[in-house]
Amino acid sequence: MTQHDPHAPADCHFCGARATGIGVGLTSPRDKDPRWICAPCALVMEDFRRVVRMDAYELRALELVDDVAGDYCADIGKTDMADMTELERRMLWKTVWKGCGNSLRKLVRDGSAPF
Ligand SMILES: [Zn+2]
Repeated sequence: MTQHDPHAPADCHFCGARATGIGVGLTSPRDKDPRWICAPCALVMEDFRRVVRMDAYELRALELVDDVAGDYCADIGKTDMADMTELERRMLWKTVWKGCGNSLRKLVRDGSAPF
């Protein structure tokens, strides 16, 4: 593992959230990307190491995010964005944003190969 500069912004290599001081590591002496990861992904890093095709997990995670967003809309009783207040729309996007990372980690942790 390598050291992360806490003043340098970095996105999680796996889910895109704000990264912490943990990196997956360099793959060769020429590799310059330590692939920083966020705290929740660090908890399942060993599971992520087993993933061969992350894009397949991302596609499957979108289905779970669709369910999470649907649940949120059902909770507020609105499915049309034009009827939502600004706060409700922002909370919908926050639900989707967090749902992507949570769903991806869940699939990887559970070893739910999507193919
Ligand atoms: Zn992450």
